[in-house]
Amino acid sequence: MSAPQWLDAWDPSDGAERAAASFRTRFGTEPDGIWSAPGRVNLIGEHTDYNGGLCLPINLPHRTYVALRRTFRSGPGGADVEEVRLASAQEPDAGVWSSTLADIGPGTVTGWPAYAAGVAWALRREVDTLGGFDAVVDSCVPYGAGLSSSAALECAFAVALDDAFHLDFGADDAGRAILAAACIRAENEIAGAPTGGMDQSSSLRATAGHALLLDCLDNSVRHVPFDLEASGLALLVVDTRAEHQLSDGQYAARRATCDAAAAQLGVVTLREVDPGALEEALAGLTDDVVTADVARRRVRHVVTEIARVTELVALLDAGRPGDIGPLLDASHISLRDDYEVSCVELDLVVESARAAGALGARMTGGGFGGSAIALVEVDRVGAVAAAVADAFAAQELTAPAFLVAHASDPASRTV
Ligand code: ADP
Ligand code: MG
Repeated sequence: MSAPQWLDAWDPSDGAERAAASFRTRFGTEPDGIWSAPGRVNLIGEHTDYNGGLCLPINLPHRTYVALRRTFRSGPGGADVEEVRLASAQEPDAGVWSSTLADIGPGTVTGWPAYAAGVAWALRREVDTLGGFDAVVDSCVPYGAGLSSSAALECAFAVALDDAFHLDFGADDAGRAILAAACIRAENEIAGAPTGGMDQSSSLRATAGHALLLDCLDNSVRHVPFDLEASGLALLVVDTRAEHQLSDGQYAARRATCDAAAAQLGVVTLREVDPGALEEALAGLTDDVVTADVARRRVRHVVTEIARVTELVALLDAGRPGDIGPLLDASHISLRDDYEVSCVELDLVVESARAAGALGARMTGGGFGGSAIALVEVDRVGAVAAAVADAFAAQELTAPAFLVAHASDPASRTV
């Protein structure tokens, strides 16, 4: 028997105090405030965002905290030199990174500061009222686990800069969509990571007690009630701790295949393919880019996955969260067999959780490692986690880590 390792979320007041204490140590003064943003986990709708599809993330109780202070350092002529200084408790060896707003741009920032400085760069494209600042980060969002520590970092900076420089985007959902777009630009153009828009939209726009139904065609959202506790259920998240080197190239390959298939079908995005006419659409794919068999399976995943999101939302709207298990299972099989983005560890979580009584389970996130989710009756959480941990130990795999997710608050000021 191997005891499961649990990744507990910090209480927000503890997270804020940690960030404030690090800020005092680094910069010898008090921050103007503490802001925080959550990681997310996607319930269903995987690899649909870049196909103009639907996805359904919830925010985790795990958050990234940013302590930030506006600064003014006068340069020649007395103007602010707009210096940016950044440090992270998760990157202690990197020390304090510094630059100026004018020097931040595509290709000028490497490593973790790209995610934070990138947000300042992107917001600067929207407004000219941003100036210099010092900031320190601390976080309990698992790193690189497919739970979007990168978006949590970006979105914490987005709300911090928005508030500290009175940009006023954070006050309503339309403004938060603008902040999300700035965070996506930061990740794509400054950090150089190709991602769709799900993570940042969730962290900024999803609310407590709700999943976010995000329509990636027009970025419109609907808040769908998601209260598992009331139904005696829990969402168990398992970080496999596996990261397969394939992931970047495979992600790009999947996107390219979807784009080529859409072009061949004469649609802008695969969202336009009617699930009821899927077989005819698949017959229209030929061997141009990849083999037709591969293209057909990729398209079938995307089209059926978007339909599963709609079905799952209907069950939640009907107050039947206990019935979503089969859709989670079907999503996993589609990702494993048709989209081919699962891996040994993700399949093992799904199989061992199901064998221990989970009502449904699937990989979540981009795949090739990262995390999986399982829908579990509350009093079975410990037993299912133990069974998954045992299955990993039996195969001599790195021990996974566990957390329980409930739909939590979006990015905001904490103190
Ligand atoms: P995920 O978003 O799934 O956790 P990513 O690879 O997209 O994984 O993002 C992880 C990267 O984001 C880290 O390697 C680091 O550069 C940056 N990052 C995330 N959280 C922090 C943090 N608290 N401090 C510094 N960098 C962070
Ligand atoms: Mg990420």
